[in-house]
Amino acid sequence: MLLFFLKHYMILRGRNKKLALTTILFLLCMVALIKGVSHWTYRQGLANLQKQGNVRLELYTNYLQGVLGKYESLPELLAIDHNLVRALLNPHEKKRIETLNRYLETINTVSNTSDTYLMNKDGLTIAASNWKEERPFIGRNFNYRPYFKQAMKGTLGRYFALGSTSSKRGYYFAYPVRKDDEILGAVVVKINIDSVEQSWADRDENFLVSDPDGVVFITTNPDWRFKSLKPLDSDVQKRILESRRYQDANLLPLSTRVSTLNPTMQILEIDSGVGKKPKRVLKQSHFMPHAGWDVHILTDTRVLLEKVVFTNVIVGSGGGVVYVLGLLLLQRSRRIAQLHEIEEESKRALQEANEQLESRVLDRTQKLTEANEMLRKEIIDRKQAEIKLKRTRKELIHAAKLAVLGQMSAGINHELNQPLSAIRSYTDNGKQFLEKGRLDEAMWNLEQIGELTERMAQIGVQLKLFSKKSSGMIVVVPLHGVVDGALEILKPSLKRESVELTIDIKPENVEVRANHVLLQQVLVNLISNAMQAIEDSKKKKILLEGHARGDKVIIAVQDNGPGVPAEYKADIFEPFFTTKKSGQGLGLGLTISDRIVRDFGGHIVLADFRDGARFEFTLERIVQT
Ligand code: ADP
Repeated sequence: MLLFFLKHYMILRGRNKKLALTTILFLLCMVALIKGVSHWTYRQGLANLQKQGNVRLELYTNYLQGVLGKYESLPELLAIDHNLVRALLNPHEKKRIETLNRYLETINTVSNTSDTYLMNKDGLTIAASNWKEERPFIGRNFNYRPYFKQAMKGTLGRYFALGSTSSKRGYYFAYPVRKDDEILGAVVVKINIDSVEQSWADRDENFLVSDPDGVVFITTNPDWRFKSLKPLDSDVQKRILESRRYQDANLLPLSTRVSTLNPTMQILEIDSGVGKKPKRVLKQSHFMPHAGWDVHILTDTRVLLEKVVFTNVIVGSGGGVVYVLGLLLLQRSRRIAQLHEIEEESKRALQEANEQLESRVLDRTQKLTEANEMLRKEIIDRKQAEIKLKRTRKELIHAAKLAVLGQMSAGINHELNQPLSAIRSYTDNGKQFLEKGRLDEAMWNLEQIGELTERMAQIGVQLKLFSKKSSGMIVVVPLHGVVDGALEILKPSLKRESVELTIDIKPENVEVRANHVLLQQVLVNLISNAMQAIEDSKKKKILLEGHARGDKVIIAVQDNGPGVPAEYKADIFEPFFTTKKSGQGLGLGLTISDRIVRDFGGHIVLADFRDGARFEFTLERIVQT
């Protein structure tokens, strides 16, 4: 139990000083309690033992008194017998002595005593019940025995001693035998003590009877016989030895450790043998005044120790249970307190979080309001910027239009100025040839003027086409027919330039959604460009393809000219972009063609082709059912 507490204390000391202190206090209280309870249990047990001992001691004393009382008056009775007086008066009458011997023997047998004998006043035994035995008392002198001396003084002599002849323990009663007032001798009755021991031997407690010197002569434990209850002084020991009361017995002390509780109660520690613990016994005593004896009862106190240990175990266990319960309660209350604390903390944290959240919400709301305000401002700014942008775009478009107009007027100006100045000079030349009568030359000049006006008219047509938004109905047209129409227009120049034109239309009867005239114009434009591109080529080749692919028809015009230089690829579809010499092109051909094709739902692209230029566009295929 103590170990449990100590172990627990060590653990607790590490955890909690307060709890460790409480444990120490509890431990001290437990020690004090156990000590108190032990003391109380011991005292209580001792009182019980004392009570029981007293009862038994009284019983034993009564028993002893009964035994002694039974024989006490026997010598007095015998002393008044005339035969004893006559025998003392006539000790030499052999016959009389023999008769007396037999008489004493009979008395001895009847009264169940050990020996009965008659002594004269000198202490010499003249008749004895054991006259027949090997060593009879007759002729022996016992004048040294105190019982004789007492009897000779006229009183009942009592004495306990080892028989000097028989070496048997016995209690002696002696009474004077008188003739008138004269004491002639003493009659003695010896009682056998062995039977007194035997009848009380088989008990838990031990009974002792000691003489006034404290020497044990009757005991239910044979080992203790002739031991003294207290260490004897040397002169007392000498006196006892001289009286030959216990013959040569050692008279060693029974116990050297004696603690006296009260005059009738002592605790003795008696050696139980080598290597064994001494036995603690409770000694209770009672004085028998007539006999001059002390009667003792010795009770083993082991039962008390067992009781104390048992009580300690109960109290200790109870203490342990209380401690554990206390700890559990303490832990529980602590846990509740901790929970309460945690709850409080959580509440506080929650409140703080709430407050923080609220302030953050306020902050955010503020920021949002500001952001909203900024957004609103931005929207207004954007709107204003948009208006500005629109205005700027309009201005830019206007500027661009003006620029285009400028560019166009410059182009037209350039294109028209040349033939105009040529016409002027042809007209002047014509006039002069007419004045000189040179009509042929004048005619030639007029023809030149006619050609130039034709060219100028052509420029007008082109400009008209460019400015025209859309013309003609979009219908289903056979591609072959359109190609034939275009070739009809281009035939003379193709022939003149010896161009090898290949037509590849698959299927032959493929039809597209377009306007016949406009599609023809696109093809004429692309083939004219191709022809101009291959002007300087040795072998002039042009390929016109019209391949149906699903619900589309891909139309391409390809030549083996130099191709479009990389730096111009981005600009060739721009209006008025041209790389050709003045008079050969306005830079509107591709622009117009692309615009027409867009009206049909496609658009012209410059395909990736290494050996010349290849322009492609896709039209919707119409399949007649
Ligand atoms: P123009 O023919 O009046 O110059 P276009 O719009 O028809 O105007 O053509 C623009 C330019 O595109 C041409 O000046 C030429 O540089 C280039 N181009 C058109 N077709 C071809 C072609 N088949 N091969 C090489 N260059 C071409």
